[in-house]
Amino acid sequence: MLRAVKSLFSTHCPHCGSIEYRSVGVRNVLEQAFLWLMQPCRCDFCGRHYFLFRWQLPIGRPA
Ligand SMILES: [Zn+2]
Repeated sequence: MLRAVKSLFSTHCPHCGSIEYRSVGVRNVLEQAFLWLMQPCRCDFCGRHYFLFRWQLPIGRPA
């Protein structure tokens, strides 16, 4: 639980801890609904998908 909370406030991949990621497009209506709040990302290292909150995204980073 603590780990889950911690992941909300870090830009690390929750699966492998990598900080390398790229933004990806929405894949379903659920993601579309939360797009205003959360950005779906894909880990560059392990390839798994996770979400970043909008306020975690570096300003000016290409989508
Ligand atoms: Zn990863």
